[in-house]
Amino acid sequence: MEFIDSHCHLDAFKNYDEVVSKALKSGVKAIITSGCSLKGVGKTMEIAQKYPCFVFPVIGIAPQEAMSMENFDSGLSSLRDNKDKVIGVGEVGLDFHWAKSQAEVSKQKECFELFLEFSLSEKLPIVVHSRDAEKEVLDTLMKRGAERVLLHCFSGPLSVAERAAEHGFLISVPPVPSRTREKVIKHIPLENLLLETDAPYLGKEPSEVNGSAQLVAGIKELEVEEVSKATTRSCIALFNMRGLNGND
Ligand SMILES: [Zn+2]
Repeated sequence: MEFIDSHCHLDAFKNYDEVVSKALKSGVKAIITSGCSLKGVGKTMEIAQKYPCFVFPVIGIAPQEAMSMENFDSGLSSLRDNKDKVIGVGEVGLDFHWAKSQAEVSKQKECFELFLEFSLSEKLPIVVHSRDAEKEVLDTLMKRGAERVLLHCFSGPLSVAERAAEHGFLISVPPVPSRTREKVIKHIPLENLLLETDAPYLGKEPSEVNGSAQLVAGIKELEVEEVSKATTRSCIALFNMRGLNGND
């Protein structure tokens, strides 16, 4: 069985070579790694170059980073420099849990909208982080007409997840159960779900992404194999992952 870890941060591992080879051995088909800080971008691109057709990069500025940044010029220019090598933009988004002032919220919004604009103009999918800001994130995405969207580690209300799925947005599921996540998995069509680990931030590694498939299969009462196939297909389609779809 094949699994794609649609979202993690290999640059945050000191021993990323070990992490990647463990994933290779445990049946992971591909890893999408997100460099979402100024210093993480270079390392992310380096890792992806080292493992072509297995590690795929997306780059952005996470909202927690954006809050304390003066401007986003260098973030955007490194994205621009790498736009032919990345398969998407992200993670970007809004995180009101960490924002302590209106100024920090404004910074997050400014960053999110700039990167969203870039993803739309370059026709790249966007990986979005939202925490305590799920509705705001969705409203922004819809207002701008975004179509290729991955809401990663979504932990917002079911009503927002349903609205996202109706618009064809995808939601990725980490191998960590929670009451709200369970509800979302149960009611959102399998076609709208992807697997992720968000490694290392949830104490997981990409080699454990099959845990997400088991979680989805358990809640939806499906075979893990069916979840593996559907999520792999949807992930390849969303990110147009060259080298994985058999056409090139
Ligand atoms: Zn992440």
